[in-house]
Amino acid sequence: MSRPVGGGTHSQKLFDLAHDATNQCVQCGYCLPACPTYESMGKETASPRGRINLVKMAAEGKMDVQQDLAKPIDLCLGCRACEVACPVGVPYGHILEAAKEVIADADSSQPSTGLRGKLKTMILSHLFPYPRRLRALGNLVWLYQKLGFDKLARKTRLTQLFPEPLGQFEKVLPPLESPAKRNKWGTIIPAKGEKKARVAFFPAVSWTR
Ligand code: SF4
Ligand code: SF4
Repeated sequence: MSRPVGGGTHSQKLFDLAHDATNQCVQCGYCLPACPTYESMGKETASPRGRINLVKMAAEGKMDVQQDLAKPIDLCLGCRACEVACPVGVPYGHILEAAKEVIADADSSQPSTGLRGKLKTMILSHLFPYPRRLRALGNLVWLYQKLGFDKLARKTRLTQLFPEPLGQFEKVLPPLESPAKRNKWGTIIPAKGEKKARVAFFPAVSWTR
């Protein structure tokens, strides 16, 4: 087991949190076809196996947590489809959470700079905490798809002009339901006997375009 060679506290923390888990990966690649970001980008660094390797190397101090690891981890959707596909049970979710924690630690010591940093701060501070804004964004995206702008943007390669996180997100965006459908509550089935709790189920949605 090799300890971090860079001696950085971030590498050390990553080593302690996730190095053992990264060692469980046998590099077989069975997870690759299950990964939507690998499917859309076709790069090893956008695959579960590639991200696991990057986390391992960052934990060993062989690469920088912010410069080399943050972007590939940022582009991971966190769907964990790779975890289900993995024949040896690599705990990808655990590795991802550890990497995110360490990247957040590293980020907190530096102000957000550049388009990516500003976009992230804007989304986290001004979008996610506000359900109405999220709903409005969902409506705009639905309109964008409904009017066929998504197909046009891909056909004319306009999506390549989007900042990378947005461009990649656009590629894996599922078709959205109309605002009327999304805002409608499902069928409410009353409890049989004494009501003990409220339970909600999300129906399965096909993500094929
Ligand atoms: S969590 Fe999803 S997007 Fe991330 S590596 Fe696994 S399959 Fe790919
Ligand atoms: S995460 Fe699992 S499926 Fe993917 S390369 Fe490693 S061992 Fe193979």
